[in-house]
Amino acid sequence: MEIGAAITAFSALKDLAVGLLGERDRQKAATIEVEFTNKLIEAQAHLTQLLGTVIEQQGRIGALEQRLRDMQAAQTEKKRYALAKLGAGREFFAYRLRPGAELEQGGGEVAHFVCQPCFDGGKKVVLSGNGEGYWWCPACKHGADVGGASAVVFSGGRRDLSDF
Ligand SMILES: [Zn+2]
Repeated sequence: MEIGAAITAFSALKDLAVGLLGERDRQKAATIEVEFTNKLIEAQAHLTQLLGTVIEQQGRIGALEQRLRDMQAAQTEKKRYALAKLGAGREFFAYRLRPGAELEQGGGEVAHFVCQPCFDGGKKVVLSGNGEGYWWCPACKHGADVGGASAVVFSGGRRDLSDF
């Protein structure tokens, strides 16, 4: 490992320094100095490598933290919605805001439906309606004619869009 190599290099440096201090023979001292310099270069290389690894890992941690925050935000956003059946005649489903889940700032949100396949895939796309009961997703083109009435059926029973 890089940490082990760095520790070994520094340990060798210390031994050489001790040897150099005790050496009276000039030629031997010069040899030890050369060896010391080489070991110093080696230790610096190991440190540089270690620093690179630390920086790389910090970057990875930062990216993972961001991903976690994104996933938590997506989870929080998803909890605001509930699956609802649009119209009475067809089995066409979309997500709609749960009652009371409107964003507080900005004075509420307008009633809307979110595409079920897109939302389950992690993308929020608001459905478009032609005003005559046809709803579709502008992104994946998932859509259906659910009838003229804008009635919405969800777990609590049946309500009209005007109730929201
Ligand atoms: Zn869609």
